[in-house]
Parts: sequence; structure tokens; C-alpha cells
Amino acid sequence: MAVMNIININDTSNKLFYIGGVVRDELLGRKSLDIDITYVGNAIEYCARFGKIIRENPDFGTIRVNIGGQEVDFASTRSESYPRKGHLPVVDKIGCSLKEDVLRRDFTINALAKSVTTGEIIDYTGGLEDLKNKKLRVLHDESFVDDPTRIIRGLKFSVRFGFELDEHTRILQEKYLSNINYDMSFKRVKKELIETFSLNSQKVFEIFINDGIYKLVTPNEVKLPKVNIEKLVNDYAVELPWIVYAGVLSDLSRLPLTKTEQKILDDVPENILKTDFELYKAFENSRTETVLLYAILKDETGARHYLDELRNIKISVTGKDLQKLGIKPSPKYNEILDEVLRQKLKNPCLTIDDEIAVIADLFA
Ligand code: ATP
Repeated sequence: MAVMNIININDTSNKLFYIGGVVRDELLGRKSLDIDITYVGNAIEYCARFGKIIRENPDFGTIRVNIGGQEVDFASTRSESYPRKGHLPVVDKIGCSLKEDVLRRDFTINALAKSVTTGEIIDYTGGLEDLKNKKLRVLHDESFVDDPTRIIRGLKFSVRFGFELDEHTRILQEKYLSNINYDMSFKRVKKELIETFSLNSQKVFEIFINDGIYKLVTPNEVKLPKVNIEKLVNDYAVELPWIVYAGVLSDLSRLPLTKTEQKILDDVPENILKTDFELYKAFENSRTETVLLYAILKDETGARHYLDELRNIKISVTGKDLQKLGIKPSPKYNEILDEVLRQKLKNPCLTIDDEIAVIADLFA
């Protein structure tokens, strides 16, 4: 953890601590993407002495500064509570003790701190033992009630590290999932789902379904589809892999979806498409995510046939060509071009002259 060399802070206060994922990852010998540093006290006041402030959020006591060209995030120690269970917490105190700060966290393995000054690991919750035993343990019995997104986070960590839920934590999870009141922040649920499903892991999805974690999103029963979604997503690059997983749940109405995400779901045909022409017309204006959902929910062979072959077929004639042929513009144009498409799907080698011959035949 050489960040202090990178950002070049010479700290002697013993009030700066690496915290959360970065400490966990270092102990697991893994690379961390972001480095969280907590200051015991008010980080905004503390950081005022360093380089340029990039942004700060006094409500949370967080600040980003530029130190010698490096952007670094600092957080003040803070304690939180959940007056509205399942919704965003409120900050009770900025500048609390390190212990109070770690007690607001999700799992013991994410509640470890390491002194920047001395390198000492501070473990108030048994995180070191749980790291050794590969266990995910929440810090108190109300943890999932306060913040159900921790269940999705637990799934992510369990697959990423090969850890298991500790027995008591599993019981708390099952209890929560068997009696959900759906009064929660679905914006947060969506954020965690995006992060978790973007891992593109069939294993994650199997646990998500088999352990009933999907019930956070919908009370409707969901069965594990036979299609291997990970393989499908690997075979066809998509921008939004998460929606291919989430879309398997028939009801995403609680999630705040973007227009694009909603269209991906709405475009999935309800029935199995039988002909090449039907497949082509159904998907020609849809995103690949829609076709993958069709593969999972309806017909994998048809979907792959569309993606591998049909979607690359394009007719050459256009409305302009029809005009040149002396055909008056009218809604009939669509029928004519569709007929050309039908023939081209049967025989993709048709040249533009062959296509014109198809049109001539129509009027013969
Ligand atoms: P990743 O490697 O996926 O980024 P991370 O542990 O660094 O994992 P972050 O989402 O960056 O995860 O969160 C940083 C830290 O904040 C966590 O290690 C944990 O201590 C705390 N944290 C994050 N989300 C929650 C939550 N929903 N409830 C409680 N603590 C949380």
C-alpha cells in the first residue's frame, strides 16, 4: 500500500487511516481500484493545508484534493443512523471516533483500518479473523434492515473472494428476504445491481436466483433460466450487461430505469419468432441486449441465428430506387422493400440487380 509515497503526505498525527476495501484488498494480496483514507476528525479542515481542493461535500465531510498532481479522496470519520430503514442514512456526527466510523460499515472485512503513520491494523469487529476464515459477517442484526443493498454487496464479495456468509449473517439475510416491505431506496438497489451484474458472472446470477436475493427487486417467483448468460454476454459485446441479467426478472417496475433500459425490456417479443423475416423485423431497431434477453427467455437458437447471420444482411435497394423505377411513393413502398428483404434473407447473395428483378416480378 504505497499510496503515501505516491501522494507524498508525511503524516505524523496518527489520525489518518486507510479504511475499508483498500485494507481488505491489501491483506488479501489483491489490487484495490480506489483508495479510501479517513481522517479522525474533520477531513475538510485537515486537508485545507494541502494542495488544491477539487471538490468537497461538507454534509458528508468528504473532500478531494490534488496533491502533487494526484487526486486523493479523504473522508472525515462519521457516524450514521437509519431513521428511515432501507433509505439513505443520515449523518449523526462528523469527526467521531474511528470505532464509531467503522461500526457504520457493511461487513467486518470492510471495517478494517490501517494507520498511515504506523501501519498498524485496527480491527474493532473481528475482520482479520473473518478474512482468515473467508467469512462475510455483518456488524449487527439490523444491518440488512437498515440497508438491504448490503445483501447484494455480500453476493458480490462472496463470489469475488470465494467467501461464504457466516451462519448467523445467512439467517439474518434469509429472514430479511422472506419478509420484504419494499419501502427502500431502489436507486441504491439499482446501483448495486449494476455493479454486481457488470461482473458478468453466471455464478453470481445463480446465487442471486437460488438464494432468493432477486426478491429485493420483485416478489414474483423467478426460476433460473437454462441459458448460460455469462457465455451469451461474452459472445456478444453489449454496453449494458447488467440489464441482460436483471431483465430475466419479469418485473423491474420498482427500479428507476432510463428510457434506454426500459426500451430494451419493452422490445423483447412475447412469443417465439418462427421465421427469419419475423426475427429480422422484430430486432432490426433493437439493441443487442434485447436480443440476448429473447435468447434467455424464449429461443436461444433463433436469437443467435439473428445475431450471427441475419442482422448482417441488408437490402441494397431504397425508396429512391423505387422512384427511379417509376413507382409512386406510397405506403406500398414498405411492402415492396419487405418482399425484397424476404428474398434476400433466403438468399443473401442477391445483388442489387437481383433485387430489382424481385421488384419487377412483383409488378409482372
Ligand atoms: P470495491 O472493491 O467493490 O470498490 P469496496 O469495499 O471498496 O469494494 P466501496 O463501495 O468502494 O466498496 O465502499 C467503500 C467502503 O465503504 C466499504 O469497504 C465499506 O466499508 C463501506 N460501505 C460501502 N457501502 C456500504 C454500505 N451499503 N453499508 C455500509 N458500509 C458500506
